[in-house]
Amino acid sequence: MEKRMNWLNDELGELKNSGLYNNIRTIGSAQGAWITIDGRKVLNFCSNNYLGLANDPRLNAAAKKAIDEFGVGPGAVRSIAGTISLHEELEKRLAVFKNAEAVICVQSGFCANLAVVPCLVGKQDAIFSDELNHASIIDGCRLSGAKILRYKHCDMEDLKRVIKEAKESGLYRRFLLITDGVFSMDGDIAPLDKIADITNAEDIMLMVDDAHGEGVVGRGGRGIVDHFGLHGRVDVEVGTFSKAFGVMGGMIAGCRELIEWLHQRARPFLFSSAATPADTAACIEAVNILESSTELVDKLWANGNYFKEKMNALGFNTGVSVTPITPVMIGEADKAHEFSAELFKEGVFGSAIGFPTVPRGKARIRVMPSAAHSFEDIDFGVAAFEKVGKRLGIIG
Ligand code: PMP
Repeated sequence: MEKRMNWLNDELGELKNSGLYNNIRTIGSAQGAWITIDGRKVLNFCSNNYLGLANDPRLNAAAKKAIDEFGVGPGAVRSIAGTISLHEELEKRLAVFKNAEAVICVQSGFCANLAVVPCLVGKQDAIFSDELNHASIIDGCRLSGAKILRYKHCDMEDLKRVIKEAKESGLYRRFLLITDGVFSMDGDIAPLDKIADITNAEDIMLMVDDAHGEGVVGRGGRGIVDHFGLHGRVDVEVGTFSKAFGVMGGMIAGCRELIEWLHQRARPFLFSSAATPADTAACIEAVNILESSTELVDKLWANGNYFKEKMNALGFNTGVSVTPITPVMIGEADKAHEFSAELFKEGVFGSAIGFPTVPRGKARIRVMPSAAHSFEDIDFGVAAFEKVGKRLGIIG
């Protein structure tokens, strides 16, 4: 490394000293209830593969078929020579699934947020943003150049105050409110019905990032707008295919004019190559599966509820979660890291999450039960939590 890059060692050292260094585990198998890490089979308690579709034979077969027909690469950005029939088929299918007028697909959920926010607002505008919104929303907001006005997490009184002040200031042209649908660190749900009442009455555009609600909440996993019955009252729905859909990619659903505008203006759509045929075909198959049966969604919820009940009976605090995402509250970050390492020794992969991702003193092991788990798998995980929890004095 050249001397001019020495600052990197200082920065990395600082991360390590403060316990914020990310140790990345390498997985040596397909996704599923059990995975192989460092040659050991461990219970997978931390992936977003909610419905177990990431290694589903039906999706795998659809991806292989698409490779045979269309090859592996898209060849270009969507707007030049990269749009294939599979992209349009997926968009049409998703519009029906989501009960939206139209859908545009991009390369990831992260890209979807970067794509859409700057197309909705600019320097003369303001965004109302839940203080716990995901990093990709925050980056999309920053990229837009609009003023970001944060309100307290899911706090409608605070939201009304922030809106009133912004409107009275006379400083802004357009307004947009953005919230996560299901918050991934706590597993709580944004009060989107109340938010829509406020924003619709104030003529404020409303956008929800449904990354963790897609395939999880709503009828047959149709997402948070469906969960609250808010079709037509939420202007923009962002989604990802990397979680419940088990694949990779992102989407934006909304009115026809919005999607037409994004075709013209969304930079990740215009300047980054299209999603691959294999990913796109696998996503279509995920929609087929979700539309044909609620079995996987039901199983996910049954497993999530089963895990929570067992953990609460043991005396663990699972926070404010109302979805399968289950934070097991530990306290300080170093304790959570120790807990995670001890769990790993017991054969359970459960990741520790601490500051700055969650507030100081609220470090946790975030458990993601999935439809791929059996009750026996969950029992195995709970037994490991009980052992480690007692050893580290988290439960009595
Ligand atoms: N939004 C939210 C709320 C997320 O949790 C994530 C992924 N962690 C994303 C967007 C990004 O999705 P993707 O992985 O498809 O880029």
